[in-house]
Amino acid sequence: MEVKTSLLDNMIGVGDMVLLEPLTADSFLENLRNRFDHNEIYTYIGSVVISLNPYRSLPIYTPDKVEEYRNRNFYELSPHIYALADEAYRSLRDQDKDQCILITGESGAGKTEASKLVMSYVAAVCGKGQEVNKVKEQLLQSNPVLEAFGNAKTVRNDNSSRFGKYMDIEFDFKGDPLGGVISNYLLEKSRVVKQPRGERNFHIFYQLLSGASDETLSKSQQKLKLERDFSKYNYLSLDSAAVNGLDDAANFRTVRNAMQIVGFMEDELHSVLELVAAVLKLGNIEFKHESRYLKEMCELLGIEQSVLERAFSYRTVEAKLEKMSTTLNVAQAYCARDALAKNLYSRLFSWLVTRINENSFDMFIRDNSFEQFVINYCNEKLQQIFIELTLREEQEEYVREGIEWTNIEYFNNAIICDLIENNQNGILAMLDEECLRPGTVTDETFLDKLNTICGEHQHFESRLSKNSKFLTDHSLPHNCFRIQHYAGKVLYRVEGFVDKNNDLLYRDLSQAMFKANHNLMKQLFPEGNPAKVNLKRPPTAGFQFKASVGTLMKNLQTKNPNYIRCIKPNDKKTPHIFTDSLVRHQVSYLGLMENVRVRRAGYAFRQPYEPCLERYKMLCRRTWPHWRGPAREGVEVLMGDLQVPHEEFSYGRSKIFIRNPRTLFFLEERRRQ
Ligand code: ATP
Ligand code: MG
Repeated sequence: MEVKTSLLDNMIGVGDMVLLEPLTADSFLENLRNRFDHNEIYTYIGSVVISLNPYRSLPIYTPDKVEEYRNRNFYELSPHIYALADEAYRSLRDQDKDQCILITGESGAGKTEASKLVMSYVAAVCGKGQEVNKVKEQLLQSNPVLEAFGNAKTVRNDNSSRFGKYMDIEFDFKGDPLGGVISNYLLEKSRVVKQPRGERNFHIFYQLLSGASDETLSKSQQKLKLERDFSKYNYLSLDSAAVNGLDDAANFRTVRNAMQIVGFMEDELHSVLELVAAVLKLGNIEFKHESRYLKEMCELLGIEQSVLERAFSYRTVEAKLEKMSTTLNVAQAYCARDALAKNLYSRLFSWLVTRINENSFDMFIRDNSFEQFVINYCNEKLQQIFIELTLREEQEEYVREGIEWTNIEYFNNAIICDLIENNQNGILAMLDEECLRPGTVTDETFLDKLNTICGEHQHFESRLSKNSKFLTDHSLPHNCFRIQHYAGKVLYRVEGFVDKNNDLLYRDLSQAMFKANHNLMKQLFPEGNPAKVNLKRPPTAGFQFKASVGTLMKNLQTKNPNYIRCIKPNDKKTPHIFTDSLVRHQVSYLGLMENVRVRRAGYAFRQPYEPCLERYKMLCRRTWPHWRGPAREGVEVLMGDLQVPHEEFSYGRSKIFIRNPRTLFFLEERRRQ
């Protein structure tokens, strides 16, 4: 297929999909592929940046490139993530408009890398000076710390983020960064005790064992008593411990260094490593005979051994004035052990995030469980905000410019969000209700309820609109339910939903942890303080997550949005391969075609009068070489002279709007003749 060249000479394919002619799913794909083959991984849809993961380092992030994109207009240079970063930063600095940058895409598509590129660009162009540099350094160095504790090797991505991250950076009126706040959303804590085949636990475990000095591991006074061999630890999966191209030992040094820059004291750093070691030891505790690891863990954290042993043997339930103890059997003791490990690690992670803040200011996965469910819910909300805001932004621009405009229909995923979050019969509400109900509550009773209510709801819906996203059919495996997300169908296994939503840790364990003679440990388990026994039920995990997603959405609504849509070109983590079917699927569920259509339904192209006149005045004798008068009038004369049909453009207050890309090509061709 032939793809026309666009505004810029020497551009590969079309740099802005809005100008693609004809616009079909095939031409869209072909344009992406053509550009990808020529190392052009960025393509625009208006101001949205599509980013294709190249899986190799390209020489396009040099200081020279930063200079090139600095203070330039979007359309002047070939598409680049720096152009978006520059635009966002300048609107913030010069027009005082708060900005947010939403980066979406599936696992391995390049979101984390994109966020780092944006941060490093902004760091490079904003103010200099000792204080400012310190803030910048802290913001940038928070990445390696969070990645060590929150990222892991998965089948899809060797450095997959297993938590959601939102980072707020504040700037002063000059545009210098003052500091930042990071929020984290739901760490996938089940990974601490068990990983799917071919995947690893969080990086830090391997980094510690490979990179820490002999001194730290075993010889010093405050010894962690750890062995270097991963295979000695139950929580570290064996089949994939070493990852190609990943140097755990070197990364450990990077992380230590980053922690120091971010502001961790030497003793804090050691406390953190002690807790990481404690998690590894916990995983090796056995309830058969006297356990060496239980002893070591108690020594490490200053817990009396009998206290921990008791906490693993009994479960005490306090109700009003009564106290009841039941004995745990061996299986329950193992569950309690794993629950403690998961809790300990995720609290440590949240503490790290808080500590950093203080200082500096998926398709079908084998085991889609509760965590994946809430993460997909968050993605659904982000997609919704993308839909709302791209439309809103487009319409507001027409209003601002005084241009006539009729609303156009757009795919909306509100119905999926509603299925999950509706206060009465949404899935999260039903799960909460089930968890709070007295009597025997199991994952199965929850699923029954779900099927009854959502299933019926579906029949009711289908009569009206055939639109339900809760899919019931006979092919569903046992104990599963299926949701039609915007990105595709996802099957969820209901096992663990109730427990994970309850997120309760036996009080005996919290109390044992609080008794530890270890400052950080005590801080992480405040509810274990006997002086503060609280009989009120803590909010469920689902409830907390929904609340934090709600806050995030409100926050995003107040800012001017910028979008980076990341696409993964292949499933092999390899450069140079572009798998059509894979890309086509992502283009489709990200709604990119609709996005182009929305841009074009109105006006495909817009340009302020001045640059427009500059560029095309040579086409008309009356405007060439100098037009004396307002630029807008010059452009009107120009278009009249060229006999461009009236319906092809509208004159806004500050810009000309051109309806059809063909008009633009016509102008460009005339220029070239
Ligand atoms: P997840 O959702 O699993 O966290 P992600 O979208 O954050 O995935 P990244 O970790 O950003 O994905 O990217 C995966 C890998 O792809 C990176 O480790 C890097 O090797 C490569 N990569 C991504 N973007 C780029 C880029 N712009 N240039 C070079 N390599 C890249
Ligand atoms: Mg990531």
